[in-house]
Amino acid sequence: MIKSLTVLGSTGSIGVQALDVARLMGFEITALTSNVRIDILEDQIREFRPAFAAVADEKKAEELRIKIADTDTKILPGYAGVLECASIKTGAVLNSLVGIAGLLPTVRAIEAGNKLALANKETLVAGGETVTELAEKHNVDILPVDSEHSAIFQSLQGCPDRKQVKKLILTASGGPFFGKKADELRNVTAEQALKHPNWSMGAKITIDSATMMNKGLEIIEAARLFDIPGERIDVLVHRQSIVHSLVEYEDNSVIAQLGVPDMRIPIQYALTYPDRFVSPVRELNLAQAGALTFELPDDETFRCPGYCREALRRGGLYTAAVNAANEKANELFRKGKIRFGDIAESVEAALGLSLDNGGRTVEDILALDSEIRRKTEEMWQ
Ligand code: MG
Repeated sequence: MIKSLTVLGSTGSIGVQALDVARLMGFEITALTSNVRIDILEDQIREFRPAFAAVADEKKAEELRIKIADTDTKILPGYAGVLECASIKTGAVLNSLVGIAGLLPTVRAIEAGNKLALANKETLVAGGETVTELAEKHNVDILPVDSEHSAIFQSLQGCPDRKQVKKLILTASGGPFFGKKADELRNVTAEQALKHPNWSMGAKITIDSATMMNKGLEIIEAARLFDIPGERIDVLVHRQSIVHSLVEYEDNSVIAQLGVPDMRIPIQYALTYPDRFVSPVRELNLAQAGALTFELPDDETFRCPGYCREALRRGGLYTAAVNAANEKANELFRKGKIRFGDIAESVEAALGLSLDNGGRTVEDILALDSEIRRKTEEMWQ
């Protein structure tokens, strides 16, 4: 098992929970990073005494450097500092950055030979085979932190070569708007969309959950992580978020992973795999949970998963394109500049572009990401 850990995005929702696990497991912390939240980062530095900490915002980095001058932690400023933290040798790098900003740090961590616990799904959605091939080349394991993918990973343990897998079944809570139709959703506000029924998460992913784009991104993520075509990945709406995903085998046996909705379970499993340890998470009481329900998703009202499937089918840069359009539209919606339904339209527009499916270096992917963001912004001006 690992002894040391770097957490990229340590002041966000997943980052804070990762440090809960680190505290319990007694991991030594190598480095921590944050975008701007230096007050929380200062507390974390004082508790965990990492050798390095990075703050993406350079002004905030300087403020923090002065505040923690009495400690031995060295502050690395800017996004370059975040990249440097990813490449410092450690037991594992947990990447919980939000959005495409997570891609380059993933690449740096892999190039440094660091094991990767991946909560940043955009890494695999936009990075695709470029990232999985790089991980293979450097012999680096990518362990899923996303709850559905952790559930699949756990359910696959009985079938090491994965040859007898028929399909993967991702569960979806359905988000705050499940059961509503498109005309009822046209004018919902960001505030309404931010009320997730089961999970407490960051703002970007909570909106992605409301549009079901999150499930679309997760279909792509699962295809890349488990090397399986999108046609063999199903989605089931499961409102209680107890069954975190399932694997169906050729003999029609289905294996699932269950637990209370708490990210510390998948985080801990990614960091302690293949072992299991006592967790602070509450026990699952199935009698108390009562009925567990499953139903098909409403793909007509929630169109984003369908667009993601199409992007996955086309391959190449299309998955990066839908991701970029969504990331920009998600931001515009949170700022009140576009309507809820405009998010799906933005994603659809990205599929309408004719993209070169040839070279796919990280630079190609990042260039396309900027271009699509610009186009998405222009679309709503
Ligand atoms: Mg998830």
